[in-house]
Amino acid sequence: MAAADSNGEQLTIGVLALQGDFEAHARTLRGLGARAVEVRTPADMEELDAVVIPGGESTTIGKLIASAELEPALRAHHEAGRPILGTCAGMIVCDAEHLGFIDATARRNAFGRQLQSFEADIEIEGAGDEPLRAVFIRAPWVERHGPGVEVIASYEGHPVAVREGAVLACAFHPELADDPRLHALFMAMTTGARERAREEAET
Ligand code: GLN
Repeated sequence: MAAADSNGEQLTIGVLALQGDFEAHARTLRGLGARAVEVRTPADMEELDAVVIPGGESTTIGKLIASAELEPALRAHHEAGRPILGTCAGMIVCDAEHLGFIDATARRNAFGRQLQSFEADIEIEGAGDEPLRAVFIRAPWVERHGPGVEVIASYEGHPVAVREGAVLACAFHPELADDPRLHALFMAMTTGARERAREEAET
């Protein structure tokens, strides 16, 4: 089962709850069997297997991360190899010009400010053969990325979902579509990271 590792333990996944649609992420994760906790303070980051940085407005989220003094805890989480999912504004927050969790640069409102929102069926590597309905809301795309970054989905030739190590970032809102496969992929990454950490602790 995706939600548990080989020891059958439930995954605990934090969702940054400073701004944006964190509740929909938490609901999707719970639907897949994870324990989802809202993160507002550094203490909330303790004991997390993974963390989600939801969409919203990237400048505001960046300021709220700073004022909540969450940046050191997020950096420690990243350095420990624990997975991070950044969606839409969360992708921007993770990029090389912000927290630097992924060697990629996102271009804000890349599809045009006028085009507020649209949906498209996109294929995501590692999330099954069926295309996934992706909801884009003033979405970024990945303008540049380093060689260590794997593009797992593109739309109109632009990367819209990328992965580097334990960091997964997507330009759309997977929590708004009635399809949990991107969260399931993230939970599989989290199970893998937890097993690796356990193996390292044992050797
Ligand atoms: N346009 C927003 C930004 O640049 C992102 C929008 C979103 O997260 N839906 O921060």
